[in-house]
Amino acid sequence: MSTGRVVIVGAGQGGFQAAASLRQEGLSGPITLIGAEPGLPYQRPPLSKAYLKTGEAAKLALRPQSFFDKNAINYLPETWVEGIDRAAAEVHAGGRRIAYDHLILATGTRNLRPPIDGIDAALDLRTLTDAAALRAALDGPRRLAVIGGGFIGLEFAAVARELGHEVSVAEAAPRLMARAVSPLMSDRFLALHRQLGVAVHLGAPVAAVSATGIALSDGTDIDADLVLLAAGVRPNTELAEAAGLAVENGIAVDARLLTSDPAISALGDCASFPDPRTARRIRLESVQAATDHARAIARRIVKGDDAYYAALPWFWSDQADCKLQIAGLAGAEDEAVAVSDSAVFRFAGGQLTAVETVNDARTHMQARKRLTASVPDRTTLEAAGFDLAA
Ligand SMILES: Cc1cc2nc3c(=O)[nH]c(=O)nc-3n(C[C@H](O)[C@H](O)[C@H](O)COP(=O)(O)OP(=O)(O)OC[C@H]3O[C@@H](n4cnc5c(N)ncnc54)[C@H](O)[C@@H]3O)c2cc1C
Repeated sequence: MSTGRVVIVGAGQGGFQAAASLRQEGLSGPITLIGAEPGLPYQRPPLSKAYLKTGEAAKLALRPQSFFDKNAINYLPETWVEGIDRAAAEVHAGGRRIAYDHLILATGTRNLRPPIDGIDAALDLRTLTDAAALRAALDGPRRLAVIGGGFIGLEFAAVARELGHEVSVAEAAPRLMARAVSPLMSDRFLALHRQLGVAVHLGAPVAAVSATGIALSDGTDIDADLVLLAAGVRPNTELAEAAGLAVENGIAVDARLLTSDPAISALGDCASFPDPRTARRIRLESVQAATDHARAIARRIVKGDDAYYAALPWFWSDQADCKLQIAGLAGAEDEAVAVSDSAVFRFAGGQLTAVETVNDARTHMQARKRLTASVPDRTTLEAAGFDLAA
C-alpha cells in the first residue's frame, strides 16, 4: 500500500519513528500522528540522565517542526484518542473522527502505582512534564527516596547524588535491576551506588509513603522530603481492549507485528510479540524495540515486506560514569560467566543468550553482531578465550 491513509496513536519514540519510516519507505498517502503530550515528539532516555542536570528540553525533540511540515506528517499534539471504531475504520479523538486504511497503536506504558498507603504523594518520571516538575523540586538540597532499583530509579539516584542530594533507594527484590541483568552485574552496580553514597535497601517492599518519607515492610523508616516512584510500568492497552483486540501482557501482535485485526499494527512498549529466538511472547521497554518495530511495520505497510520481525534486542543504562549495555535477551535463570572485568556472558543450554558490558562498547558491538548471525555455543567461545571477534 503506497497511497493509503495511516493513523498512528501515540507520538513517542515508536509512533514518531513509524511516521518517519512510512515516508522514507515511500508512502504518499496522508499520515496522522496523534499524541496526548504537548510539544514535539521527544526522546525519553535523557529524562533520567542529562536533562535532570541541564534542563535543556529543546534538545530532546526528535525532529524540529519543519520535519513534520516537509514530510506532510499531520501531527496532532495534546490530543487523546478515546476510541477505535473498527467497523468504520476510524479513531475518535477530541470530537473528531479520523479515518484510516491502516492503524498503528504506539501507546507506550504508564507508571505502575502499587497499592501502597500514601503512594499518591510519590512523583513519577515518565514524561517531560514529570521530569520538569522533578527538576524544579530539586532546586535545593533534598533527602530523596526512590522506590524501585531498576534502570530509571538508579539513573535518577546517580544524577541526584551528583547534584548533591541525599539519596536512598528501596528495592523489593533481593538485588538491583533483577529483571534485566545477571546477579554478577547487580552486585557490581550495588557496589557502585554504595560508593556514590546512595543508601540502598534490598529485599523489603515499601509499606507506606508519608510526608516524612517511606516505611519499609521490615520496619525500616527512611526519611525523605521527596519520593520518586520508579517501580515499573504497565502497558497502555485499554484502547485496544475496548476495541476488542487481543491483549496478553500488552497488545498481542503476531510475528509481523499485526494485532488480531489485520488493519491494525502495534509496536514498542505497549505490544507483546513472539520472541524470534524462543517463540515466547515478550514485551520490551526499549528505544531499540520501539524504533525497530516501527521500521518493520513501515516496510510491511508500504512495500508489502511480510518478513517476520527478528531484530536483536539491546539496551543501555547510564549510571554515574558507568555505561551498562546489554546485547540479547537472557532468561532469569541463564548462567552468568564473568569473562573479563567489563563483560558478563549469559548462557542457556550452552548457547550464548546475552552479553552484559560496562564501559566496553567494543564487546557490546561484537556481541550484537555475533548474536544476530549464528549464535555461538559456550564450548566454542571458551576455546576462543571468550573473544567474540575470533
Ligand atoms: C526516564 C526514562 C528513561 C529511559 N531510558 C531508556 C534508556 O536509557 N534506553 C532505552 O532503550 N529506553 C529507555 N527508556 C524507555 C524508552 O523511552 C521506551 O521504551 C520508549 O519510549 C518506548 O517507545 P513507545 O513509542 O513504545 O512509547 P512512548 O515513548 O512511551 O510513547 C507513547 C506515547 O503514547 C501516548 N498515548 C498513550 N495513549 C494515548 C492515547 N489514547 N491517545 C493519544 N496518545 C496516547 C503517550 O502519551 C506517549 O506519549 C526510558 C524511559 C524513561 C521514562
